[in-house]
Amino acid sequence: MVLSLGACAKPAEEEKPAGNAYTPGTYTQEVSGRNGKMVIDVTFTEDKIEKVEIVSEKETKSIAKVAMDRIPSQIVEHQTTNVDTVTGATITSYAIVSAVKNAVKEAGGDQTVLDAVTTARATAQETIEKTADVIVVGGGGAGMSAAVSAMENEASVILIEKTSMLGGNTVLAGGAMNAVDTEWEAGFEAQPGEKETLQMYASLDEATIPAEYLEDFKTMRTQINDYLASGETYHFDSVELHTIQTWYNGLRTNLDGEDYYGNYDLVSTMTKKANDAINWLGDLGVKWDTSKVTQPVGAMWVRGHNPSMPKGEEYVAVLEPMIQDKGEIMYETAATELIMDGSKVVGVKAVKADGTEVILHANKNVVLATGGYGANTKMVQQYNNYWTEIPNNIGTTNASGLDGDGIVMGQAAGAALAGMEFAQLMPIADPETGDLFTGIAATTTSDYFFVNKEGKRFVDETAARDTLAKAALENGGEFFMLVDMDVAEECIWTDWREQVEDGNAYMADTLEELASMMGLNEEQTKNFLEEVEKYNSYVESGVDPEFGKPIFNHKFEKAPFFASPRKPAIHHTMGGLVIDNEAHVLNAAGEAIEGLYAAGEVAGGVHAGNRLGGNAIADCFVYGRIAGENAAK
Ligand code: ADP
Repeated sequence: MVLSLGACAKPAEEEKPAGNAYTPGTYTQEVSGRNGKMVIDVTFTEDKIEKVEIVSEKETKSIAKVAMDRIPSQIVEHQTTNVDTVTGATITSYAIVSAVKNAVKEAGGDQTVLDAVTTARATAQETIEKTADVIVVGGGGAGMSAAVSAMENEASVILIEKTSMLGGNTVLAGGAMNAVDTEWEAGFEAQPGEKETLQMYASLDEATIPAEYLEDFKTMRTQINDYLASGETYHFDSVELHTIQTWYNGLRTNLDGEDYYGNYDLVSTMTKKANDAINWLGDLGVKWDTSKVTQPVGAMWVRGHNPSMPKGEEYVAVLEPMIQDKGEIMYETAATELIMDGSKVVGVKAVKADGTEVILHANKNVVLATGGYGANTKMVQQYNNYWTEIPNNIGTTNASGLDGDGIVMGQAAGAALAGMEFAQLMPIADPETGDLFTGIAATTTSDYFFVNKEGKRFVDETAARDTLAKAALENGGEFFMLVDMDVAEECIWTDWREQVEDGNAYMADTLEELASMMGLNEEQTKNFLEEVEKYNSYVESGVDPEFGKPIFNHKFEKAPFFASPRKPAIHHTMGGLVIDNEAHVLNAAGEAIEGLYAAGEVAGGVHAGNRLGGNAIADCFVYGRIAGENAAK
């Protein structure tokens, strides 16, 4: 605590005003928010909390804004810390409240007086009943795009969102969207190792390819062979390669020995329509950063399009105002059940954060876009049949609110489920919070490498996410991600200065110094130095004889060097409601449930056993757009 303004003498006991009494002044508090340190100034007069000001913070703006605006003003207005937390921004809410409580104590105030005030607590109002052509449930990427596309198709739309902001996991994602744009991608040079990877795909045994994927495989094989024969050095891509990679890298065997892979219709619709969705979003106002094409972690190929704003923030910044303008958004409104008329879905029941009941009638259709259940560890454990164990204390990268509500509601309306056994762990999450955006990550996987706590590399860093997570868990769970200064400067998600200051990453001018900060002993330091030397030699030759890393971009050589501790956390749930490629929700007999569409992470069948990095954003925008268009009919 730093008392930044001159503390006046405490008023004598008999001068104390009724209610509370404080030693006037401004009390500066440091508390932990969701993403790191928050500095909050609390100013008191003799008898009042005069001002609560957030001086600095690192919260994700779109998530924490409501809490940072609402909580301080409620505290001042009602002279209490007895306020409702903001749904979806609970950690930020608690951080502000705890800063004020600390300050009250330091200023000599009586917390029990504040606790006794209940006027800031919301209470249920009269039931709200409304009607629109299309009701969209959930305001992440899929829900926002469904709403906009339904409105483009002349439908009136109400979108309800459980938390106080739109974005869901979409805003917490890296933001990169996989989409094949051969013309744009050919403007980049192929990275060392890409040709070998292409050869591998072209030489897959036809007998191992499922019949429905065979034609695309043959087309891809011809394209690759032509490209390799041409001797060209540009970066190759094709829609068929994207389709085959999504199938091949999503194919997994569950713990019962059964194979599972993505539904061809769903996968190929996504890969074929992804670039249209890029153009559609571009027309709506998303500014794509066309200066680089990336390979997000676990993407398996360089084809990531990145919005200009960090993470998924730009999607919200562009789509939310459009929905507010032409449709209606009800925030802090959680759907609880679908309203049925026989076997037809005709609306949604919901409840607002203050307890008010909401009944929404759909003239046309309901779109479920509630995302997955990655924040619901119990549900992940209940369905898991892939990981030998999902520990109770595992972290999650997910936004709060991702509890699988849409899956439960869809099931109650007769929907079948697909692929629920497979949940994805994000290998490179924060060891303590599960957050994806701490530490210093490279924007593309060819730019970094990992070492375990023995100082040794243990995996091909460009491998699929489950391979990386399994390798990490086998290596003790926590490991280090290493980048040098050149890469740190390029990191689009975090600022290295802040990360080092917050203790999320170690920085050192020499490798020996870095090893000591990483807690490596003499033997482990020796390992680490050897690994760096070997790794740099692989970058030079383009060949990794140990782990087979297929592409390299960057040597680890420019000081200062950075190491960020990382650990797997629950990231994405691949399973969900069965849909077809028109986004209808299907029952166990494979028939469309009348009145119901679903899109995004709430649906299953696309990513199967392992989702490729960058495919979730493609999935939610492609299917969100389709769902909205069809729901408007
Ligand atoms: P997707 O990528 O599929 O769009 P996201 O995770 O980005 O998924 O978004 C899903 C959104 O749905 C989140 O904002 C989440 O808060 C919201 N949501 C989840 N459950 C409900 C519910 N019961 N009612 C309303 N919104 C919900």
